[in-house]
Order: sequence, then C-alpha cells, then structure tokens
Amino acid sequence: MSREPLLIRAVLFDIGDTLWHSRAAPPPEEFRRLAAGRAAAALREFGLHHADPSLVARTAWVAMEEAMRAARATDFAEPDYGLVSQLALVQIGLHLSRDQAASLLESTYISGIEGGKAPFADALGTLTELRRRGFQLATVTNRAFGGDRFRADLRDAGLDIGWDAEAVSVEVGYLKPHPAIFRFALDRLGISPAQALMVGNSLAEDVAGAQQLGMAAAWRRSAPDAEGVSPDFVFDQLAELLDLPILAEKR
Ligand SMILES: [Mg+2]
Repeated sequence: MSREPLLIRAVLFDIGDTLWHSRAAPPPEEFRRLAAGRAAAALREFGLHHADPSLVARTAWVAMEEAMRAARATDFAEPDYGLVSQLALVQIGLHLSRDQAASLLESTYISGIEGGKAPFADALGTLTELRRRGFQLATVTNRAFGGDRFRADLRDAGLDIGWDAEAVSVEVGYLKPHPAIFRFALDRLGISPAQALMVGNSLAEDVAGAQQLGMAAAWRRSAPDAEGVSPDFVFDQLAELLDLPILAEKR
C-alpha cells in the first residue's frame, strides 16, 4: 500500500542551473577587466585611490569566496560579506567602512545578462503553467548578493513572475541546505513541508536540504555533488515537471 498521495500546494525553485544558466558568459579576463574598472569607480566615489584596481577587486572577491566556502563547510550561516571584504582590503592598504566595502564588492559582481545568464528555454512556460494550475511559486536560492540588483537580473532574464515568496540566502542569513532558508519560504507561503516540492540541480543543497525537512524534491540531473541522496523525482528538462502526477491541477 502506498502512502497518502502528496498534496502539493507550492513549488520551490533553485535558480542557478535550474531556471537560468551561464550560456554566454564573457571569458574570465573580460570579467576581471570589468571588475577592476568597477572597483576603481567605487574607490573614486569614496574619494580613494589604489594603484592596482585589479588587485582591489580580486582581494575583495577572494575574501568573499573564502568566507562562503568556510560557511559551507561549517554552520551554513551567511557571512557578513561587507565586513569580510573590509578586513581583506585593509591588508592592501585600503581603509573603507563596512558599507563601502560591501558596495565595492557588489560593484565587482558581473551578474545577470551582462554575466551571460540566460533562462532555460522552457523556464517561463513551465512556471506560467504551474501557476495556471494553481500552485504557489517560490525561489530558494544561495546568493551572496540580493536586493534590487538580483530582482532586476531576474526580471531581465524574464523570470520575474511575481514570486509568492523569495528566500535569498544573504537576506535570510542561512545557506541551503540549512533548514532555516526553506522554512523562511514555507512560512511566507503559509504551508507545511509536506505541501511543497523543491526543484533544483544540487543533491547536497536542494534535494538533501528539502528532504531533511520532509519536503519532496525533484532533481535536475547534473554532475552529482553528494552521495547517498535519492531525489523523489529526476528530470532533464523543466517542462517534464508538468507531467508529474503530483503537479497535475491542484486539488
Ligand atoms: Mg543551482
């Protein structure tokens, strides 16, 4: 005898490599050139100067990545990236406030269409059809930068569908697979874990994170990043979600 059929009310989506991907990303040297120019501009705005803006951009960025890696290896609490880059920049002789360092760091982030991000061809159609069927839709995403810029990137990629909830790690304070970021979305949707399906391409972050809370998880087949994790569903194209019995018209 199978268990009770799942009564799914909402679908939660990872974004990177699930809804959009880097299709036409500039080469690394172009990223570095742009980032150096942005760092120099940010310093000018603060009335500061550094002889090597490439080093400035790289220093802030490397410090951010190290802090992110450390968080992922320990408690999944989002670091204070402004503080992290502020401290790193002191090492190369730049004394910025925390907010200035945060602003400089974010300015070096080449994102959205400029960063080559493009939605998967069937993303918008799949989201639109799920909404037509009556499902609430939410994002649950690990990102070091949130706010207006991230929303603008989503809009530019055609993925601004008026999300019912948006859980962005840097805004929530925790990275997937920490339960807090999933709970944040569920609370805003007003549903229990059993009423949600998480969709993502990471076994470690999306699938394991959702399942540990009691949510079902659909995995977009990718290079596996964890062992011993069994998704409830596996798909290759987003539109295949529309064929899942649990995502038929909402009851
Ligand atoms: Mg992803």
